Amino acid sequence: MADGPGLRISIYCAGCLHACKGCHNPQSWDIANGNWMTIDEIMDIIVKDEFSNVSFSGGDPFYQVEAFTELARRIKTETKKTIWCWTGFLLEEIQADERLSKLLPYLDVLVDGPFILEQRDTHLHFRGSPNQRIIYLTPKEDDVIPGTVDIIPFR
Ligand code: SF4
Repeated sequence: MADGPGLRISIYCAGCLHACKGCHNPQSWDIANGNWMTIDEIMDIIVKDEFSNVSFSGGDPFYQVEAFTELARRIKTETKKTIWCWTGFLLEEIQADERLSKLLPYLDVLVDGPFILEQRDTHLHFRGSPNQRIIYLTPKEDDVIPGTVDIIPFR
Protein backbone atom coordinates (compact mmCIF):
# COMPACT_ATOMS: atom_id res chain seq x y z
CA MET A 1 0.00 0.00 0.00
CA ALA A 2 1.37 3.44 -0.92
CA ASP A 3 0.67 6.78 0.75
CA GLY A 4 -1.10 8.20 -2.29
CA PRO A 5 -0.08 8.73 -5.91
CA GLY A 6 3.15 10.29 -7.11
CA LEU A 7 5.99 11.68 -5.03
CA ARG A 8 4.83 12.51 -1.52
CA ILE A 9 6.21 13.62 1.83
CA SER A 10 4.53 11.32 4.34
CA ILE A 11 4.02 12.56 7.88
CA TYR A 12 3.43 9.60 10.21
CA CYS A 13 2.00 10.84 13.48
CA ALA A 14 1.82 8.91 16.74
CA GLY A 15 -1.47 8.41 18.53
CA CYS A 16 -4.43 6.24 17.56
CA LEU A 17 -7.26 4.75 19.63
CA HIS A 18 -9.05 2.84 16.87
CA ALA A 19 -7.09 -0.35 17.68
CA CYS A 20 -7.90 -2.06 14.38
CA LYS A 21 -7.09 -5.79 14.49
CA GLY A 22 -4.14 -6.42 12.16
CA CYS A 23 -3.09 -2.74 12.10
CA HIS A 24 0.06 -2.30 9.99
CA ASN A 25 1.58 0.09 12.50
CA PRO A 26 0.52 -0.72 16.11
CA GLN A 27 3.65 0.93 17.54
CA SER A 28 2.06 4.20 16.42
CA TRP A 29 -0.94 3.82 18.75
CA ASP A 30 0.89 5.30 21.76
CA ILE A 31 1.42 9.01 21.27
CA ALA A 32 4.54 8.75 23.46
CA ASN A 33 6.23 6.66 20.77
CA GLY A 34 6.58 9.62 18.44
CA ASN A 35 9.18 12.38 18.22
CA TRP A 36 7.83 15.84 18.88
CA MET A 37 8.32 18.25 15.98
CA THR A 38 7.10 21.80 15.63
CA ILE A 39 4.94 22.87 12.72
CA ASP A 40 7.78 25.14 11.60
CA GLU A 41 10.18 22.18 11.50
CA ILE A 42 7.75 20.13 9.40
CA MET A 43 7.06 23.08 7.10
CA ASP A 44 10.80 23.51 6.48
CA ILE A 45 10.96 19.94 5.18
CA ILE A 46 7.82 20.32 3.08
CA VAL A 47 8.78 23.62 1.49
CA LYS A 48 12.30 22.45 0.60
CA ASP A 49 10.88 19.59 -1.49
CA GLU A 50 9.44 21.36 -4.50
CA PHE A 51 8.21 18.22 -6.27
CA SER A 52 6.40 16.19 -3.61
CA ASN A 53 2.84 16.48 -2.41
CA VAL A 54 1.95 15.66 1.20
CA SER A 55 0.32 12.73 3.00
CA PHE A 56 -0.86 12.63 6.63
CA SER A 57 -0.87 9.15 8.13
CA GLY A 58 -0.12 7.45 11.42
CA GLY A 59 -1.51 6.69 13.85
CA ASP A 60 -4.45 8.88 13.14
CA PRO A 61 -3.87 12.59 12.44
CA PHE A 62 -7.34 13.40 13.80
CA TYR A 63 -6.08 12.63 17.34
CA GLN A 64 -3.88 15.74 16.96
CA VAL A 65 -6.43 17.61 14.92
CA GLU A 66 -5.59 21.14 16.04
CA ALA A 67 -1.92 20.77 15.07
CA PHE A 68 -2.72 19.06 11.77
CA THR A 69 -5.30 21.72 10.96
CA GLU A 70 -2.69 24.43 11.43
CA LEU A 71 -0.10 22.44 9.45
CA ALA A 72 -2.58 21.84 6.63
CA ARG A 73 -3.60 25.51 6.64
CA ARG A 74 0.03 26.52 6.24
CA ILE A 75 0.65 23.97 3.49
CA LYS A 76 -2.33 25.35 1.56
CA THR A 77 -1.32 28.96 2.23
CA GLU A 78 2.41 28.66 1.53
CA THR A 79 2.58 25.95 -1.16
CA LYS A 80 0.57 24.50 -4.03
CA LYS A 81 0.84 20.96 -2.67
CA THR A 82 -2.08 18.58 -2.32
CA ILE A 83 -2.82 16.75 0.93
CA TRP A 84 -4.04 13.16 1.33
CA CYS A 85 -5.05 12.13 4.84
CA TRP A 86 -5.71 8.66 6.30
CA THR A 87 -8.00 8.23 9.31
CA GLY A 88 -9.80 5.48 11.19
CA PHE A 89 -12.81 7.77 11.63
CA LEU A 90 -15.61 7.84 9.07
CA LEU A 91 -16.15 11.06 7.14
CA GLU A 92 -19.63 11.30 8.69
CA GLU A 93 -18.16 11.10 12.21
CA ILE A 94 -15.70 13.86 11.38
CA GLN A 95 -18.37 16.07 9.83
CA ALA A 96 -20.56 15.66 12.93
CA ASP A 97 -17.78 16.80 15.26
CA GLU A 98 -17.09 20.53 15.29
CA ARG A 99 -13.52 20.02 16.48
CA LEU A 100 -12.53 17.26 14.05
CA SER A 101 -14.22 18.83 11.04
CA LYS A 102 -11.94 21.88 11.10
CA LEU A 103 -9.26 19.90 9.25
CA LEU A 104 -11.50 18.87 6.35
CA PRO A 105 -11.44 22.12 4.32
CA TYR A 106 -7.67 21.83 3.88
CA LEU A 107 -7.62 18.22 2.67
CA ASP A 108 -7.77 17.16 -0.97
CA VAL A 109 -8.40 13.47 -0.36
CA LEU A 110 -9.55 11.64 2.77
CA VAL A 111 -9.09 7.87 3.08
CA ASP A 112 -11.50 7.00 5.87
CA GLY A 113 -12.64 4.18 8.11
CA PRO A 114 -10.98 1.47 10.18
CA PHE A 115 -8.93 -1.36 8.69
CA ILE A 116 -10.94 -4.60 8.82
CA LEU A 117 -8.58 -7.57 8.88
CA GLU A 118 -11.24 -10.05 7.72
CA GLN A 119 -11.70 -7.95 4.56
CA ARG A 120 -8.00 -7.39 3.89
CA ASP A 121 -7.27 -7.03 0.17
CA THR A 122 -3.68 -6.42 -0.89
CA HIS A 123 -4.78 -5.51 -4.44
CA LEU A 124 -6.53 -2.33 -3.34
CA HIS A 125 -4.86 0.99 -4.03
CA PHE A 126 -4.00 3.16 -1.01
CA ARG A 127 -6.09 1.22 1.57
CA GLY A 128 -6.08 -2.12 3.28
CA SER A 129 -9.76 -3.16 3.23
CA PRO A 130 -12.63 -2.22 0.89
CA ASN A 131 -14.73 -0.51 3.57
CA GLN A 132 -12.14 2.26 3.58
CA ARG A 133 -13.18 4.98 1.15
CA ILE A 134 -11.01 7.24 -0.95
CA ILE A 135 -13.01 10.43 -0.73
CA TYR A 136 -12.38 13.21 -3.16
CA LEU A 137 -12.79 16.44 -1.19
CA THR A 138 -11.68 19.06 -3.67
CA PRO A 139 -13.41 19.91 -6.94
CA LYS A 140 -10.11 19.59 -8.78
CA GLU A 141 -7.56 17.02 -7.62
CA ASP A 142 -4.41 16.70 -9.69
CA ASP A 143 -3.42 13.53 -7.82
CA VAL A 144 -6.24 11.47 -9.27
CA ILE A 145 -5.14 8.50 -11.34
CA PRO A 146 -8.20 7.59 -13.47
CA GLY A 147 -9.26 3.99 -13.15
CA THR A 148 -7.22 3.21 -10.06
CA VAL A 149 -9.19 4.72 -7.18
CA ASP A 150 -12.80 5.15 -6.13
CA ILE A 151 -13.77 8.77 -6.08
CA ILE A 152 -16.76 9.95 -4.09
CA PRO A 153 -17.67 13.56 -4.86
CA PHE A 154 -18.04 15.48 -1.62
CA ARG A 155 -18.39 19.15 -2.40
S1 SF4 B 1 -6.77 3.64 12.23
FE1 SF4 B 1 -4.89 3.03 11.17
S2 SF4 B 1 -3.23 3.33 12.67
FE2 SF4 B 1 -5.17 3.33 13.80
S3 SF4 B 1 -5.44 1.21 14.48
FE3 SF4 B 1 -6.56 1.44 12.55
S4 SF4 B 1 -5.10 0.80 10.95
FE4 SF4 B 1 -3.91 1.19 12.83
